[in-house]
Order: sequence, then C-alpha cells, then structure tokens
Amino acid sequence: MNPKEALLDPDVMRERYRVERDKRLRVDGNDQYVDVVGPFAHYTDDPYIESGIDRPPLVDEVDVVIIGGGFGGLQMGARLRDAGVEDLRIIEKGGDFGGTWYWNRYPGAQCDIESYIYLPLLEEVGYMPREKYSHAREILDYSQRLGRHYRLYDGALFQTEVTGMSWDDQLSRWIVDTNRGDSLRARFVAMANGPLNRPKLPGIPGLGDFAGHSFHTSRWDYEYTGGGPDGDLDRLADKRVAVIGTGASAIQCVPFLGEAAEHLYVFQRTPSSVDVRGNQPTEPGWAAGLDPGWQKQRMENFNGLVSGLPQPEDLVDDGWTDLIGKMIRRFREASADGSVDIPEVMELANFDKMNEIRSRVDDLVEDPEVAEKLKPYYQMFCKRPTFNDEYLPTFNRPNVELVDTDGKGVDRITERGLVVAGVEHEVDCMIFATGFEVGTPYVRRAGYEILGSRGRTLSEKWTDGMATLHGMQSRGFPNCFFMQISQTAFTANFPHLLEELTTHLSHIIGHALDRGISTIEVSQDAEDAWVATIREKGLGAMGALGGADCTPGYYNNEGQAREPGSIQAAPYGGGSIEFFRILQQWRDDGDFAGLEFTHSSTKDGGRPPE
Ligand code: NDP
Repeated sequence: MNPKEALLDPDVMRERYRVERDKRLRVDGNDQYVDVVGPFAHYTDDPYIESGIDRPPLVDEVDVVIIGGGFGGLQMGARLRDAGVEDLRIIEKGGDFGGTWYWNRYPGAQCDIESYIYLPLLEEVGYMPREKYSHAREILDYSQRLGRHYRLYDGALFQTEVTGMSWDDQLSRWIVDTNRGDSLRARFVAMANGPLNRPKLPGIPGLGDFAGHSFHTSRWDYEYTGGGPDGDLDRLADKRVAVIGTGASAIQCVPFLGEAAEHLYVFQRTPSSVDVRGNQPTEPGWAAGLDPGWQKQRMENFNGLVSGLPQPEDLVDDGWTDLIGKMIRRFREASADGSVDIPEVMELANFDKMNEIRSRVDDLVEDPEVAEKLKPYYQMFCKRPTFNDEYLPTFNRPNVELVDTDGKGVDRITERGLVVAGVEHEVDCMIFATGFEVGTPYVRRAGYEILGSRGRTLSEKWTDGMATLHGMQSRGFPNCFFMQISQTAFTANFPHLLEELTTHLSHIIGHALDRGISTIEVSQDAEDAWVATIREKGLGAMGALGGADCTPGYYNNEGQAREPGSIQAAPYGGGSIEFFRILQQWRDDGDFAGLEFTHSSTKDGGRPPE
C-alpha cells in the first residue's frame, strides 16, 4: 500500500492514531505540570499595569460579590443588572475588565470563534465587531464597553485577589478576604474564575536553571521583545528565541516571532491541526440587515452544528462547522444505500477532515521532512483545532527551526537553553506557550480556599470528586455559585455557556433578593441525583471532545479521562443543547426544585417579601 492509499484506509489510520497516542501517554497525567508558585510565581506577575493602585482596605457589605472580571463576571453583572440588582461588586486580579483578553495580549492573539457569536450581548450593547474573527485588542475594548454599559465599574476592585472566603452561619453572609486587606460581606458570591486562568509550566527537568529571559504567552513581555500585538518585535533582531508548545497560543504568535527573531526554535510535542483562517471585515450591509434576536439564533445554530445536530442552514460556515458538514454529507451518502453506522460515518468524516488538514501542511511547507513532522495524527476534536494562514509557511523561513520531540517533550532545560535528543539548543529567551491548568483541583485553580457552613472547606468536600446541582451550587456552600464547565456543559463557544449559566443564576439570585430569602442551599438528594447523572453520562462528554482514547491533552484529562474523579469533573454527557434545555425547564417549572430556602428576618437586612 502506498502512503496515499494508507491515508484512506481506516484500519491503517486507526493504528497510526493509536501509536501516536501511546507515545504520548504518561502516568503522571496532570502532575507533569509545575504549579506557578514559589520560585515560579513571577510567571503570573501582571506586565500590563500602567500604574499601581494604592487604596486603604475596604470593609463593607454588598448583595452580590462577583469574583472575576472576564466575560463570566461581566455577563453575570449584566444579567444581574437586568434582574434589578444594583448592589454588586466585581473583584478582579487584573488592572481592568477582560479576563482572558486582559492577559492574552501576545502578538497575533485573536479569537478563533466567530466574533458575532463570541462577543456576548452585542444586540443589548448595540455593537458590531469589526471582523469575522476579532483581534484581542478589540475584545479587550469590548469587555470594557460591557463594563461601562452595565455600570460595572461602580464598586469594581481591580488589582485585587481574593485570598479566601468563609460562610458566617450567624450572619448568613460570605466574608470575602483579599490580598489588599479587604473584608467584604456578601449575601451571594458568584465565582467566574475562568476555565483557563492559571498559566501552567511544563515539568521539564531543570525548569528553574535557565539563566536567560523567559515568560509565559499570557504575560507577554513587550519590554523585552519590543513591538506590540500587531507585531514588529524589533528588540528580538539579535535574539535566539525558543517557543515551547504548539497549541492555539503558539500557532498565533510564532509567525510574528519568526518574522522578528534572529533565530527561532519551535519545540513541538504534538502538532496542532491548523485549518484555514479566512478572516474578513464585517460587511456593513449584512450587519444592518440583521433582524432582532439574530445573535441568539446564530449562537444556537453554531452550537447545534458543532454538537452534531443537523441544522437547516450553516449560518457561521467556518472550520468548526465544516467537519459537521462533512459528516452530514457522509450520512446522506450512507443513507442512500440503506446502511448507516453512525459512529463509523463520523469516524470516516473525521479521517476526511484530518486528511485535508494534513495535505494543507504539504501545500504550505516546502521541506517534506518538516512537513511530515507538522502533521497531526489524531481525530479532530481530540485537541482544540486551530485556524491560521501564516503559521505553517513560517517554517519556510531560514531562521526558523522546528525541533520535534517525537511526542516526548523537551528532555531538559539548562542554564543556556533546551536539550532534545542529546542536542542542546542555546537561546537568549524562552517563551512558554504551554497553556493553562484545567484538570487540577478547583481551589488550586481559583487560588483561594472556600470555607463553607459547618466549618468544612470545598477542598475537603470535593476530595473524592466534585458534587453539585447543575454544576453551579454545592451543598454546605449556601449562596455560593460556580461558573465552570465541570458538571455543566461543554460548547466550543464558551460565552454561550456563560450566557446560559448567568441567565440561570440571575434568575435564582434575583428571586432570592426579591423575596427576602437569606440562604439558598442545595438539598442532598438533588445534589446526589445530579452527580449520579454526570457519572452515568460522564464518558459521553469526553466522547464529544474526541474521546478517552484520544491523544492526551486537557480535553481528556491528559489521557486519564476514565479515572473516577475525572468522570465526575466531566461536563454533562448529554451535550450542551440538552443541558441548556434542562436549565430552561427547571426555571419554567418555577418551583426551584432541589433548593432549600431560608427566609430572612428584618434583622439580617433581607428585602421584604412581596
Ligand atoms: P495548550 O494547552 O493548547 O498547549 C500547550 C502546548 O504546550 C501543547 O502544544 C503541549 O504539547 C505543549 N507542552 C506541554 N508540555 C510540554 C513539554 N514538556 N515539552 C514540550 N511541549 C510541551 O495551550 P494554549 O495556550 O496554546 O491554548 C490553551 C487554550 O486556550 C486553547 O486550547 C484554547 O481553548 C484557548 N485559546 C484560544 C485561542 C483562540 O480562540 N484563538 C487562542 C489561544 C488559546 P501537547 O499537545 O503534547 O500536550
């Protein structure tokens, strides 16, 4: 069989994928990464602050504290404002709103999800993005626009990190402490810490030994590189630079580094799939002709398509929805001769799509040996797909070198550089494009402990796995709300999930404030039932993300998706569409099933019941 025929043979491809996966499986899973504390804590310092804040510690009380000023916090604030909640405060560790888009300002940073469905509340705010795929600067500006539109700057505490929160049973209040000595009382706390907020470093031996300069992509050091998000990194002209990692962040910044550095080494463990970008400016006529309600309709259309649900049309029509289009075509072909094996049809469509991705590498990379190393051999959605038109051609530059580690990762870091297969590559600067913590305990990622009622911490409660109702509330932690993917749902368009979660939470919080309810507690039965549902369908969710048999990555808990704790941290296995319907139905039923309410007396300041 020649190599071209092999690519079309499902058995050969299955075997190839298995071999590539096995090469990368490690027993240490998530433990391979190094926590950014102690000698590595400086990797999270904020390089973007123009002037520090000097303010006295604050001691006061509000109805709602929101932790996190990214899209989650902003959407929560917006929905609470809509529900008539005036007394709220957002606490944010960065210098302004933006979250992910505050931190990720590396050259070329851009959103891969279409801006018209990614930027939340466009119709409410009256804003139309400038391009189909917005650049980071526009998204950061838009975050601040949301802050202004919904008056969320009022009372916001920036450059402030929560250090702990504890529930006071007597007062029925959360006491939220910060690194600026604040002690805030809150009736309700909504935690929008973000799914990818804590940078992670690779556990490469000698990590701390490098004597040159280094930083993480989410804390880009423009002081050192020169230039800005549009490139022109002029201070790298005489520098040898290493990028470690080839995920979505690296794909976007590598072209700018290749353009600027004297020499660029790209250290690769697993190649990304790199599809066509195809960005374009927003067409004013199209934007003007949109009917009210268009954004929600478009979000749902996209979510339906990427969830594998055929839609009458593909409104977004991009690389994310293309695979689904291929599946639907294959279904039609298979149905025509009367034999439809759904998993097989999906797998074959996936092979087609990945063959297309692999042949794109041949088209764009001149050296066939380099091209071969840049080809991903796994199912699409095992890892996050990427979209870029400049990344692959960057490897045609004489000053750019791919250092492929054959799935093993960099062997060692030395005072001078990085060692792979016995060869030391000396560099002046090392850039960690190694992503963010995902599968580690919630409290570690949040950066603070939560002490609930009866003196029990969240870490203690979740030692053997997460336990919540709908992923948002946990018994023993009254009036505390989580916004995350575990035990809620996965969708490629994260702000869509946030829209559903914040709509749900503002419904609950608004109700409690209106009715003078002082505590909301999940019943044990409701929590147990939800955990059982998650466990029952947990692996289904991993399947949606490419499967437990995928090459390791954060989508499948670094290849350890089948571990009990991991299944319990999975999103709802019936998919996001079903999950959103469950939430909607729960709200429509109107009986707040599974929640126990305690009504306040006038003493603790509850609003009078209606
Ligand atoms: P990722 O987690 O996707 O990538 C980390 C990279 O580091 C991987 O290539 C990984 O290899 C590599 N790596 C880890 N350890 C080692 C090691 N020891 N030696 C060599 N390489 C190593 O992080 P990103 O920051 O790129 O992206 C994170 C997420 O952020 C994305 O998945 C996406 O959700 C989001 N994002 C979205 C963007 C957008 O919309 N445009 C842009 C950027 C990020 P391996 O694959 O083998 O683990």
